[in-house]
Amino acid sequence: MKEYAVRNIRLCTKDCLCLYVCPTGATDTEDSIIDREKCIGCGACARACPGGAISLVPARMPPQQPKTEGVTAAMRRLALNKVKEENLARTIYNKNGSPLMAAVARSCRLTAEDIYREAGYMLPQSANARALLKEIALSSDKYAAEIAKQLMSLLPLN
Ligand code: SF4
Ligand code: SF4
Repeated sequence: MKEYAVRNIRLCTKDCLCLYVCPTGATDTEDSIIDREKCIGCGACARACPGGAISLVPARMPPQQPKTEGVTAAMRRLALNKVKEENLARTIYNKNGSPLMAAVARSCRLTAEDIYREAGYMLPQSANARALLKEIALSSDKYAAEIAKQLMSLLPLN
């Protein structure tokens, strides 16, 4: 199966070992994103990286496990509640700067992301995610619609 390397920039300590071992120069980029066009998926960079910052991912992801309509609908309702809670916590934080409210907002965001993954949106390039983005692109929220359109143009459909 064809693979290519991706770097998690948050784990990268910039010791440049991956630059030395890469046979094609794919790791040596201005923006820290490994050049997918040059990567041959040999894995040398991932083995050399002391921080575990590089992973090999399949060029083509397997299809997601199907979810029933009922499960997906319930998950989306739960996620929506988390979004509302996050907005509330963020509003309070913006008024009084409470670190607790910042933590609550962050926690709600992470939980909502987790719920969406469980609801069948694990892979951003999946048909499920594409259908959701299409729905958002048609929404009356102009900002969200524009972001959804941009994401659709950037993410390949797997
Ligand atoms: S080897 Fe790992 S930690 Fe070092 S520069 Fe490359 S990605 Fe970053
Ligand atoms: S997998 Fe191989 S070719 Fe691809 S970036 Fe890493 S070292 Fe370079």
